[in-house]
Amino acid sequence: MNQNKNSNNQISRGRKALFYAGRIMMGIGLVLFLSVFVNVAFSDPWQLVDSNPMGPGIVGFIMIFVGTLISSVGAAGKAGSGMILDPEQAREDLKPFARQAGGMLSDALDAADIKEHLAAAKEIVKVRCRSCGELNDEDSTFCKKCGERM
Ligand SMILES: [Zn+2]
Repeated sequence: MNQNKNSNNQISRGRKALFYAGRIMMGIGLVLFLSVFVNVAFSDPWQLVDSNPMGPGIVGFIMIFVGTLISSVGAAGKAGSGMILDPEQAREDLKPFARQAGGMLSDALDAADIKEHLAAAKEIVKVRCRSCGELNDEDSTFCKKCGERM
């Protein structure tokens, strides 16, 4: 199914291109959409609109919508973005994101030294022998050094 097995955990070139194409479309759409307000405010100084002043706004709005859709498909893949219902493929499509999230969590744990604290908490509490002062396990009956009853 995958054309390139090496790119399993990477976002493919095609999806990246799709993502950026969608973003560019959103940008153009936004400019068109906002130009309506500029035109209204400055009474169309560039003569962009002849008859319908809302024309570019509607086109811009559609471009933002389509651009958002295209970039989300590019980012998450067809299945990952919900364009097609395929849980198996969706998991495959979202793998780069899931992997990244896992890495970030691991980094956070390392930074806080939580792993070390968890290991220390598991350690058995030691008790000191009244006779010789040797440290023994909490649940031991006799001292491991002098044999005195704990
Ligand atoms: Zn002892």
